[in-house]
Amino acid sequence: MSLVSNDKKITYGIDIGGTKIEIGLFTSIGILCEELQLLDSWRVATPTDNYDEFIQAIVSLVADADQRTQQQGVIGIGMPGIRDKHGKLKSANVPCATGKSITEDLSLALNRQVVIGNDCQLFTLSESCGGAGKNHTNVYGAIIGTGAAGGLCINGRLYTGKNGFAGEYGHLPVSAPLIQRYNLPIRNCGCGLKGCYECYIAGPGLAWLYQHFGAENGDTHHFIKQLRNNDPIAKETFACYMEFLGASFATIVLSYDPDIIVVGGGLSKIDEIVEALPQYINHHLFKGVESPPVQRAVFGDSSGVRGAAILRNQQVES
Ligand SMILES: [Zn+2]
Repeated sequence: MSLVSNDKKITYGIDIGGTKIEIGLFTSIGILCEELQLLDSWRVATPTDNYDEFIQAIVSLVADADQRTQQQGVIGIGMPGIRDKHGKLKSANVPCATGKSITEDLSLALNRQVVIGNDCQLFTLSESCGGAGKNHTNVYGAIIGTGAAGGLCINGRLYTGKNGFAGEYGHLPVSAPLIQRYNLPIRNCGCGLKGCYECYIAGPGLAWLYQHFGAENGDTHHFIKQLRNNDPIAKETFACYMEFLGASFATIVLSYDPDIIVVGGGLSKIDEIVEALPQYINHHLFKGVESPPVQRAVFGDSSGVRGAAILRNQQVES
């Protein structure tokens, strides 16, 4: 039986992660994103080593969705990674897709045009349209999780820039005064640069800092427990971590001057981090400039599929 009783067009948002591919089916109500309604969603494992199997997994997901909706839904896709100037993908967590023209290959395999966006940028789009950033003109969205990446929305539309990676705050170079103050080494980043913020503020960066200050292991749950127990190592780690996070967000404030910063990802679930962030951002802004409000994302884990559906809807409308 069809999921919808009328002839409303359905948009499929697909979120491709390193372990799971999730599809969300949304009623498509123009660009009034607040009215997006999730009808159904489910996940399958991501084939990461074989490109044909990877494409086939998405074809099967979409065939299942077409069956459920009794129509050919339009498709937006989000995934990590950046595309080079030739449109070829560079993906860290789906290695088989690296170097492939994934938009063309999927459009052909699915027999309909698909649009693909960066997952962190789509997180921002989702939160800008009906999420924590609604009613704000300039919304900066930041993921603080296994990586550190983000994006900027202006008037409910993504600003991605010439190369498509505007807002990638995780690969800005760290503050030299902070490195000096805490006597930390300059770490090598997976992107090929040295001393990127991501090495100090993403989940693995926090684990590294915690060990650097003397913890036996970098387990984040243990860190939080110890922080709440007023353990001196956890407290010192937290203060240093927050200075680095605040400094990285201060560069965003100075670059984009957003009305609000919306945070998502695993570390954004820690109350102490979100609550203290504006004050730590202020430490790195000159006098007279203040951090905008920092809020946790409304849509959490469903931001990927939702943002992908909104991206698709906006491209259909424009
Ligand atoms: Zn980097």
